[in-house]
Amino acid sequence: MAGVKIAVPNKGRLSDGAARLLEKIGLRVSESDERRLIAEVGKGRYQLLFVNAKDIPEYVELGVADVGITGRDLIEEQGKAVKPLLELNFGECRLTVAVSESSGFRRLDDVPEGATVATSFPNLTRRYFAQRGKRVEVVAVSGATEITPHIGVADLITDLVDTGSTLRVNRLRPLEVILESRAIFIANPKSLAEKPLEIGELTSALESVVSAEQKRYLMANVPKAVLDQLPALLPGISGPTIMPIMGRDDLVAIHAVTSEDALNGVITVLKSIGATGILVVPIERMVI
Ligand code: AMP
Repeated sequence: MAGVKIAVPNKGRLSDGAARLLEKIGLRVSESDERRLIAEVGKGRYQLLFVNAKDIPEYVELGVADVGITGRDLIEEQGKAVKPLLELNFGECRLTVAVSESSGFRRLDDVPEGATVATSFPNLTRRYFAQRGKRVEVVAVSGATEITPHIGVADLITDLVDTGSTLRVNRLRPLEVILESRAIFIANPKSLAEKPLEIGELTSALESVVSAEQKRYLMANVPKAVLDQLPALLPGISGPTIMPIMGRDDLVAIHAVTSEDALNGVITVLKSIGATGILVVPIERMVI
């Protein structure tokens, strides 16, 4: 079987999340591998290429790598012909328009025609302002965009924002969001056609981990008398399994999968109907 070449961010914001995800599907990257540029994993079925996240859309488009993990923002900015296969659970950020707190601009409409915008995302930024019908001059910078409004380079910036703390520290005010981004698993279309089984297997494995990360396995002992209330009381829960408890005619054990978001509410409801011995455990993989 031909091996699958996987481009993985070698450092930066996406590298830990990518390594953790690959480890969860059994592709463990050892510390010595991390310092190398190429590693064979999965008994030689996969080759990991450790490269810069920014170069991954291009490497996958060229077929240097069959598949890769990178940010949606980078794919959209570079407009590369790659096939998105799966959204991942990390690397969340927003490409945001921001202004200096002292500028007085509160909305995009306040920004005058011909304003200068500094960004390391010139293509997305140009497209966005064109769609909004606002003529701006885009200045492409390769980093430290936040400083540009304070040193007379630009009136506005567009930059990636996660919590917003970097904007605050740099006395910048967010105005609008251009793009929501997170890490994404992509493929070269030709590789996908040539290695459908291998890439399909990899995608399913990643999908099972991504689905499981948002879910929890919940167990509890519930009075039999309130059992019929469970479906109405716990809308987030999918089909609880009901099991007898030895020596207890009044109680049953329930096992169910619930979403992480709904978990606190579900526990509150379970307690309110007399559930005891509530246990919550993580799920490693979920294949639906
Ligand atoms: P790197 O330059 O290697 O650290 O990777 C940058 C990529 O990480 C971006 O293109 C985004 O996809 C992702 N990312 C997630 N959160 C942020 C953030 N707050 N700032 C910059 N990049 C972020």
